[in-house]
Amino acid sequence: MGSKAGATPEAGPRRTRRALLFGGLGVFTVAAIAGHDELRRAWWLLPGAGRPRKEGEVDHVGAEWTSASPANWRMADRPGDYRVDRIVVHVTQGSFASSVDAFRSPFHQASAHYIVGQDGRIEQMVREMDVAFHSGNRSMNERSVGIEHEGFVDRPQDFTQALYAASARLAADVCRRYGIPVDRSHVLAHSEVRGTDHTDPGPHWDWDRYLGLVRSELAATPA
Ligand SMILES: [Zn+2]
Repeated sequence: MGSKAGATPEAGPRRTRRALLFGGLGVFTVAAIAGHDELRRAWWLLPGAGRPRKEGEVDHVGAEWTSASPANWRMADRPGDYRVDRIVVHVTQGSFASSVDAFRSPFHQASAHYIVGQDGRIEQMVREMDVAFHSGNRSMNERSVGIEHEGFVDRPQDFTQALYAASARLAADVCRRYGIPVDRSHVLAHSEVRGTDHTDPGPHWDWDRYLGLVRSELAATPA
């Protein structure tokens, strides 16, 4: 946002946002969409009012950042333009490094928000406000956060304790921030997404263990 000579520093951006808000949609429309409590921060409901992005910024504390190729995701303004109410669980079918490389490639045509390693490290590659191409289903992509896990579906030993623990902390963080219920309708397998032919995370992914860990994390760090 550019600064104008003579404008006071704190008044400028606020006035601009309010003018856009009231001028673009009307206060009643915005109030109806957002509710009074959210009116204060409803400026992101406006088309094109993208929030600032800073290279290297992450949504989950502890994640590292590597940018996926812009060809593999779509800029959005979630949860303003799309409600986020699903987590899709994936398995990479390759190493951590090869998955990071794949998402960085403009020819891969897919990405996920996060990759969790067998050692528990987490790489974020697409911001949660944006739509990653991870599930093969447009509307599911628009409403979900995609989490990849380093390993192969037919190798149960790949799903280490460190991987489960790190992913559960991440999933709990996502569930808390968007109010997503921790159950199998809202935290689902890629193989359960309509229209996909992918089989991940496969029969060795321990859902009871995973959701149990997510619930424990949530209980330990309430909203
Ligand atoms: Zn997948």
